[in-house]
Amino acid sequence: MRNTSEDRVVMVTGGVSGIGLALVQGLLAKGWRVLAVDVQAGQIEAARQALAGASAGRLQFAQADVTDEARIEQVVADCEADFGPLHGLVHSAGIAAEVPALETEVAMFRRILDVNVTGAFITARAVARVMQPRGSGSIVLISSVSGMRGNYGRVAYGSSKSALLNMTRIMAVEWAHSGLRVNTVAPGPIDTPLTRKIHTQVTRDNWNRVVAMGRYGADHELVGPVCWLLDPDGSSYVTGQVIAVDGGFTAMGLPVPAA
Ligand code: NAP
Repeated sequence: MRNTSEDRVVMVTGGVSGIGLALVQGLLAKGWRVLAVDVQAGQIEAARQALAGASAGRLQFAQADVTDEARIEQVVADCEADFGPLHGLVHSAGIAAEVPALETEVAMFRRILDVNVTGAFITARAVARVMQPRGSGSIVLISSVSGMRGNYGRVAYGSSKSALLNMTRIMAVEWAHSGLRVNTVAPGPIDTPLTRKIHTQVTRDNWNRVVAMGRYGADHELVGPVCWLLDPDGSSYVTGQVIAVDGGFTAMGLPVPAA
């Protein structure tokens, strides 16, 4: 018998800020049980208080750094033992920087790849190991359009997000016969604490010029596509794919002429 959404547990990394937090709220609103994982205790406490009324016992938090293999495996084991079997993973934890390639320090390059790539691998593998024996599950990695285009200042960030696209395909192929699906969502510019910290007004003006819809996305605009990829009824034959949620950025060619 197929589980209903009330029984399904989804782990969301980076789940107390920006896109991850919006996804936690969206999943709760659709009746899922959610484990929000993030690195900062203070932000976890703030989210716990903010979502207390909306969760009705269907939300748990865990503090973990996604680069810490032992801690992530413990979080997954605790979830399976105390909260319920994992049906899905959304890996939204990530860090970014806008620095030209010639000025990018090796330490920064390594740190961004460690969090964004190795963290995704550690988390996806840990979740896949417990989902595989059950023969079903859905993993959604949050990449970026900066992994699909040569965006200025993103030699480390863009390289890391590009790696997630092929990690997705490889995991999708290797795990397809076990009933696991792995897909990537690649957001365009989304208004979140991350972009509010990193994007200058010049950066924002540049994005608004090259996004066909002429605006940043809102964090809640990721909820529909991600929930569809998690839903075994909605996307049961979709795996190894990248879906850009980008207001038409990756489709953009010649813009509409000014009036
Ligand atoms: P955000 O508001 O900064 O949220 C990311 C969360 O992940 C933060 O709470 C962050 O904590 C946490 N985190 C960072 N490193 C971690 C680690 N090692 N272990 C566990 N948690 C960690 O950023 P966002 O804009 O929502 O971005 C979410 C994801 O979408 C990222 O992967 C980002 O690359 C991707 N994305 C964002 C955009 C955009 O325009 N916003 C576009 C394309 C893709 P700290 O606050 O302590 O760092």
